[in-house]
Parts: sequence; structure tokens; C-alpha cells
Amino acid sequence: MREMIAGLVTPAMAVVFVVLFLILWHRGKMGSYVLAFAISYMFFAAGFMVTHVLDTAAFYTWHVTQFFYTVSTVCIAWGLARRVGQPTYLGIFLTIYVVAALALGAAIVLSPDVSARLVIVNIGYGVMAVVTMMNLLAAKRRRGIDNLIIGVQAVVAAQFLVRPSLTLLVETSISPSEYRESLYYAVLSLSVALISVISAMVLVGACIYDQVRAVRQRAELDALTGLRTRRAFEKDVVAMMDKAKAQGRPVALVVADIDHFKAVNDVYGHQVGDMAIAAFGEVIQDTIRDGDIAGRIGGEEFCVLAWNCEGAAAVAMADRIRTRFAALQVDGLPEGHRLTASFGVAGRREGEGYGKVFARSDAALYRAKETGRNRTLGDESGASADRVTSIVSEVDSLRRVRKA
Ligand code: GH3
Ligand code: MG
Ligand code: MG
Repeated sequence: MREMIAGLVTPAMAVVFVVLFLILWHRGKMGSYVLAFAISYMFFAAGFMVTHVLDTAAFYTWHVTQFFYTVSTVCIAWGLARRVGQPTYLGIFLTIYVVAALALGAAIVLSPDVSARLVIVNIGYGVMAVVTMMNLLAAKRRRGIDNLIIGVQAVVAAQFLVRPSLTLLVETSISPSEYRESLYYAVLSLSVALISVISAMVLVGACIYDQVRAVRQRAELDALTGLRTRRAFEKDVVAMMDKAKAQGRPVALVVADIDHFKAVNDVYGHQVGDMAIAAFGEVIQDTIRDGDIAGRIGGEEFCVLAWNCEGAAAVAMADRIRTRFAALQVDGLPEGHRLTASFGVAGRREGEGYGKVFARSDAALYRAKETGRNRTLGDESGASADRVTSIVSEVDSLRRVRKA
């Protein structure tokens, strides 16, 4: 009786983790991978209860336990893969399960001793843990918490692959009806209880880590455009300029400002103004390359850092944003009414930091406004940049003429 009650401790702990994962998933609005962790611990508790309560002399007890533990293992594997954007390899897990289930069936028929059954099912779970570990090792981005998860999977794999052989060396034969009184069962219960708690703690830690990261990322993005806030942009630009300096790569800064924007607000209202800002942000995001970064640094002012890009090429890129925006019909504005924006561009010079490059691009933007708006200007000394602008503008006007 005492053993019976002691055996309930592990499933009870598993149920606590089920509740914890469900709360994290539901209240924290987290991804389906957290729900998979909850389902996994539910099946783990059920699997543990089955071996602890059902008749171990009956063949179905073995199959039911194996099924529950497999679902539990696969849910963890699925959740962990989804969490880091890796393939879930459900086919491989199904194959391992079917092979192990057939081998288990054969062992039940062929041998009255349970040793073979134990080795078979444990190897199945062990191989599943190895597959999960390899899958996570192949993930592109790995942080501290991801390495910890991989470490736990390695311990889980070792626990399933090595423990049965070690225990069975000591205890050579176990009959099904005495299984729960065996040394094997005692070692298994202890080791599985320990590993399931460690694993759950690491998974809860991963969920909290993911949640904090998501909140931090959301705080760094401007709600209207989805681009970086000024603070986040400046932080990232400083880091990228340091990287550019170290790698000897060129970078250029583009500063943009929508023309006569006050009038948009005054005539059509603040809401339409907001839509125009959002539309401009979208054009910027769609035009820049993956390595570039963009931020909304003021009301209708934006900034782009063009990575691995000389001033002249950045002028051409900024001018692409300009022409696309000038051709866009913004929701809420009368049909045919188009907005424009002006751009200033400066390439980073030897020894310059963000402040200096920004000042030069901002001065170029000021001149773009002064000289009529709806244009892209490179900074003073960038004669070639200005030349690119005029060529780009010429090509654009030619295109327009041909279209007309
Ligand atoms: P210019 O061509 O010289 O740039 O003229 P402008 O009218 O665009 O002048 P300025 O750039 O100084 O105007 C900024 C305006 O942007 C003033 C402010 O009312 C408006 N604004 C700032 N933030 C927001 C916002 O989040 N939403 C909306 N709708 N308007 C904003
Ligand atoms: Mg403006
Ligand atoms: Mg402005």
C-alpha cells in the first residue's frame, strides 16, 4: 500500500506540469508547442499510472504503456522541433514506434521473462530521443537554453539506452507478475521521475525565456509600421557600424521624410495620416534587402541602414522607395491623390560613427526638401551619388513617358 501511494508521486508531479504548461499556453498566448508539452506530460502521467495500477502479467498492459509513453515522447519531440522551426519527422517516430511495438509483441509471445520487453521499449524511446537531439542540433540558431534542452535530450537518450542493460546485468530474470517488486522497476521509477522533473523544469524555463524575448521584441517594434522604434534602430545601427568597421564593409544611411504631411493630417484627419505612415513603412520594408535595417525615428521620418552598400547604391535604393511610394494609392485619400517623400543619403566615411553619418544624411534630406521635395539627394561630397539620383530619375521619367 505504501509503495502504491509512493508510486503516485510521479504522475501527480506530471499533472502539476500539465497545468503549468496549459496556463503558459492559454494565458500567455504561446505557440502550440507549449500545448504539446502539456499533452506530453498528460500521457506520461497516464503511462506511469498504467504500469503502476494495471496487471503487469497481462500482455495489453505492456502495449498500452508503450503507446502512452510513445505519444508523450513524440509530443515533446514535436513541440521542441516546432519551437525552433525544425521539421517534425513524425514519419520517423511512427516507424520507430511500429517496429518497437511489433518486437514487443514478439517478445511477449516468445519469452515469459520481461527483460527482452524492457530492452525493446527502452531502445525505442532512446532512439526517439537521439532523433530529437540530432534534429535540434541541426537548427540554425542556438542559444543557451537550446543547448540545455539538447543536453537534457542526451541524458534522456542515455537513460533509456543504458539503464536497462545495467540493471538487467544485476537482475537477470524478472517474471511479469513480480515486475513491480523488481529492482529494475525501482530504478526505473526513480530515474524516470528525476528525468521528467528536470526535463519539465528546463521546458518551463524555455517557455519563460521565449515569452520574455517576445515581449522584448514587441517593445522594440513600432506598433504602426512594424519597423524598429528609434531606440531599437539606433542600438542596432551602432552595432552594425561596429561590425562594418571590423569587416571593412561599406554602409550607408538613408533618412526619409514624407512631404507636406501636416496638410494630410489637417485635410483628411489623423487616421488617414496614420495609414499613410503605415503604407510608407511597408514600402520601405518591401524594398530593402534582408541584411538592411529600417526604423521609424520620428512621426513620419524613417531611417534605413544599407548594409554592405556604397553611398551611390544606397541612393538608388532610396530612390526606388521614393518612386514606389509616389505611385501608391493610400487608403483614405481621394482616388488619384498621391503622396511623396524626400530622401537624404550618406555613406559612412573612415572613422565616422552613427552621429556623423546621420548628420550628413539629414543635411542631404534638408537640401532635398529645400530644392523642391520628392527627390533623393546624396550628401555634399557625394557628387557621384547625386549623379546616380539624376540618372535614376531620368530613367524613371523616360519609363513614365513610354507608359503614357
Ligand atoms: P515637409 O514636407 O517639410 O516634411 O512638411 P511636413 O508637413 O511633412 O512637415 P513635418 O515633417 O514637420 O511634419 C510632421 C507632421 O507629422 C507633424 C505631425 O502632426 C505629424 N505626425 C507626427 N507623428 C504622427 C503620427 O503618428 N500620426 C499622424 N497621423 N501624424 C503624425
Ligand atoms: Mg514631413
Ligand atoms: Mg518630419
